[in-house]
Amino acid sequence: MKNLEQLIRPNIKSLAPYSSARNEYSGHEARVFLDANESPYNAPFNRYPDPLQTEVKKELAKIKNVPADCIFLGNGSDEAIDLAYRCFTRPGTDNVVAIEPTYGMYKVCADINDVEYRAVELDDDFRLDADKLLAACNDNTKLIWICSPNNPTGNSLDYNEICKVLDAFQGLVVVDEAYSDFSRGKKFLNELAAHPNLIVLNTMSKAWGCAAIRLGMAFASREIISIFNKVKYPYNINLLTQEKALEVLKDPFETDRLIRIILAERTRMIDAVGVLPICEKVFPTDANFFLARMSDAQAIYDYLVDKGIIVRNRTRVALCRNCLRITIGTKTENNELLSALRQYK
Ligand SMILES: *Cc1c(COP(=O)(O)O)cnc(C)c1O
Repeated sequence: MKNLEQLIRPNIKSLAPYSSARNEYSGHEARVFLDANESPYNAPFNRYPDPLQTEVKKELAKIKNVPADCIFLGNGSDEAIDLAYRCFTRPGTDNVVAIEPTYGMYKVCADINDVEYRAVELDDDFRLDADKLLAACNDNTKLIWICSPNNPTGNSLDYNEICKVLDAFQGLVVVDEAYSDFSRGKKFLNELAAHPNLIVLNTMSKAWGCAAIRLGMAFASREIISIFNKVKYPYNINLLTQEKALEVLKDPFETDRLIRIILAERTRMIDAVGVLPICEKVFPTDANFFLARMSDAQAIYDYLVDKGIIVRNRTRVALCRNCLRITIGTKTENNELLSALRQYK
């Protein structure tokens, strides 16, 4: 990999970050806070929240087995995705390379930041070819986006192919593991020490059942994390979110229990949808959803909407013609979908 000094955007490298009132007295015992123009009333909401979310990161460090200073927390993973562009790509000059199909935010953030987005199609079985991805890179490619298990396809990408990308690419590789809590496969989260150019994304929005609180995570080297921290909004994670996250993270066994229920339902749904005459194929999945190729995705989608059941129509996405993406719900919700599909004519 190139060294970070060559990858970081020049204006970010020279940036003098905002210094909040609370950053400047460290090392002393403080009792009276008259420094931040806060109201003295309405505790605890009168005070600015911890800008570096120390308590939440302490819990996450235990759960994820990653040092706290190798963790960045954002307003959803979306904040980390946008920060990767703002820290490492020069608008109008640099480019990024990504697999296709994949999560839509990588492309949206590229467009917002005026960065060229080079999409490289997976094969017909949604497999990754490292050489094909690397061949799309040039000297101005700063980031590669990989999502595994991938959205909307659901499959995990080959571990050794991702390693090949990490070893050969000169820039940074983001591996989005938003769905890895549903997978038994190897996680790149455990490989940070081996790859200085690796950024792994996780989120509270899926397995942890907390999409509403907006909390996403990036894991990377201390150097990369400190660049993210320098550029982020000073108080990007509000107090309510930090409190709710701590509460949920302190009971990881409850999340494990719910994951097991979702996985059992996933098996049942894949089998039941797979045998329907209107289903051509269910693709292998490691996530809390599956992609199914149907006889006529648009017509079935419209029929389900009519019945108040919403799935994701992916028919216009590359390689996903006539495919619906179906999230695993509760047993009752899943049964409603199944009975509607069985009645479809
Ligand atoms: C759902 C999802 C996320 C989560 O995004 P948040 O902003 O954390 O809610 C991230 N990546 C992928 C691939 C997803 O499907």
